[in-house]
Amino acid sequence: MITIKSPREIELLKVAGKIVYETHKYLKPYIKEGIKTKELDKLAEDFIRSKGATPSFKGYNGFPTALCISINSEVVHGFPSDRVLKNGDIVSIDIGACYKGYHGDSGWTYKVGEVSEEVSLLLENTEKALYEGLKQVKPGNRIGDISYAIESYAKKSGLGVVKELCGHGVGTSVHEDPEVPNFGTKNTGPRLKEGMVIAVEPMLTLGRSEVFVHDNNWTVDTLDGSPSAHFEHTVAVTKEGYLILTGE
Ligand code: MG
Ligand code: MG
Repeated sequence: MITIKSPREIELLKVAGKIVYETHKYLKPYIKEGIKTKELDKLAEDFIRSKGATPSFKGYNGFPTALCISINSEVVHGFPSDRVLKNGDIVSIDIGACYKGYHGDSGWTYKVGEVSEEVSLLLENTEKALYEGLKQVKPGNRIGDISYAIESYAKKSGLGVVKELCGHGVGTSVHEDPEVPNFGTKNTGPRLKEGMVIAVEPMLTLGRSEVFVHDNNWTVDTLDGSPSAHFEHTVAVTKEGYLILTGE
């Protein structure tokens, strides 16, 4: 069931989204060669709690940590650990925060030091694919319009589209209806209405689109080992278009 949020609920979702955005900003200077990913997780969890919120992912279906931290070929749902970031890595950090029962969800891929030009372009184009998808968010358009825009942009950029995972509604649950796939056909799927809140989140690869899941039953990785990037915002559908809740 797709829920329409009241203005009061949108205000709470804005607060949750802002906390997620601020957590990304807070972490950014720490995303450097030499840091353990579990140190980033601890910094983020403490920061989220200091804002009166709780990490949305910790305990979600048994997920062990506050953040999902996925390195290089890992697409999403990586476990923070003793693994140390190295120069040339890319690291996808997915953050969820829950404030007074309402969630925000945003993932971003960061460079660690210097990365190759090819990988740099992967990041740039995955972020652009997110905004191409968001341009389709307005009342009257359909979910398939977002999906088609992301897939078209990815294909034009020569990138693989991970199909096993998708965007989603956000509200009193971090994952709600509708699903927002990163591939699809224009003018199909549920129609967008003012008051819907969705996370749009392209996951693109430098190689093929096939993925596998690690033995931990969570971490998704590219089958061909190619690097992958993930950019995600939670947005509210407004009268004219959309408002990014996990941004400035
Ligand atoms: Mg999400
Ligand atoms: Mg996320």
